[in-house]
Amino acid sequence: MSNVRPTACPDVLGAIGGTPLIRLRRASEETGCTILGKAEFLNPGLSVKDRAALSIVQDAEAHGLIRPGGTIVEGTAGNTGIGLALVASVRGYRTLIVIPVTQSEEKKQTLRLAGARLVEVPAVPFSNPNNYVHVARRLAEKLAATEASGAFFADQFDNVANRRAHAEGTGPEIWEATGGRVDGFVCAAGTGGTLAGTAEALRARNPQVSIALSDPEGSALHAHYTTGTLKAEGSSITEGIGQGRITRNLEGFSPDHSFRIPDTEALGIVFGLMREEGLSLGGSSGINVAGAIRLAKVLGPGHTVVTILCDGAARYASKLFNPAFLAERGLPAPDWLGAAEEPLP
Ligand code: PMP
Repeated sequence: MSNVRPTACPDVLGAIGGTPLIRLRRASEETGCTILGKAEFLNPGLSVKDRAALSIVQDAEAHGLIRPGGTIVEGTAGNTGIGLALVASVRGYRTLIVIPVTQSEEKKQTLRLAGARLVEVPAVPFSNPNNYVHVARRLAEKLAATEASGAFFADQFDNVANRRAHAEGTGPEIWEATGGRVDGFVCAAGTGGTLAGTAEALRARNPQVSIALSDPEGSALHAHYTTGTLKAEGSSITEGIGQGRITRNLEGFSPDHSFRIPDTEALGIVFGLMREEGLSLGGSSGINVAGAIRLAKVLGPGHTVVTILCDGAARYASKLFNPAFLAERGLPAPDWLGAAEEPLP
């Protein structure tokens, strides 16, 4: 994947990647650092996961694992499914998506519109055989055995074509856009592909780059990287991030720093960026920017820290931006959210 956006793409897949870095004003002023967010919400499927989806399908094609008209099956919190559905439309495949019921209606609706068949399952841990990832794997095996054009299990958590998308795309793009002047990189992990792949590329270019994990409550990774034990505590309303195990995409990776970010901290940042900097972002971007601020404070003024703006607010309008939803969970909502419109003069 190139960091240069061509002026004319042969199809929409050519518009994946090559996203700009945006300086985050308030975070930069607060820390005396330059904090940059990589605008992954500008990808055609509106999230960072388009990169992994494209890389996984290209890898499957290169290895003859998928046939024309075949079905791509995946377990996903939504964004990877949306990316896979758009890649599948262009490349001539079908998509079957297994998604936990807890994920936002906006993502489910987007998946249906993109042509994916949706199977909703209860949100249960990975140790439970009914976890969405296991259901997806079993459905892929069944379809592969019964359908003439076959099926392919995308397996984003353990398929390292995911991580490679970031080692060959996201990381080198950050390096080139900053002219190599990047002191820190931080983001949350769902599959871990973005964090481990980007870290791999940046460390290969400068071993001194500080890499940090920004972990939501309810994830076991922060405890793993700080105490050596996978242990989850609390919960988060963010979607697509947090992990209870070391996926294959995270194997061999370890961060220099790790931060555990409560939802209140992430939400304050999301609301501020929306009203003061024109950036409409989802919850994981809030966790990431909170992590970038923490890493900048560790490094001290004058450094450049990069993070990922994973997806946009519209995907969570009924949750993160719904005062009733927030109030039920004891989370603060800004006054302007849901406030009556001012009368016209
Ligand atoms: N943010 C959002 C909104 C996501 O959907 C995901 C992926 N599930 C991530 C962050 C995490 O990315 P990764 O899977 O590369 O760790």
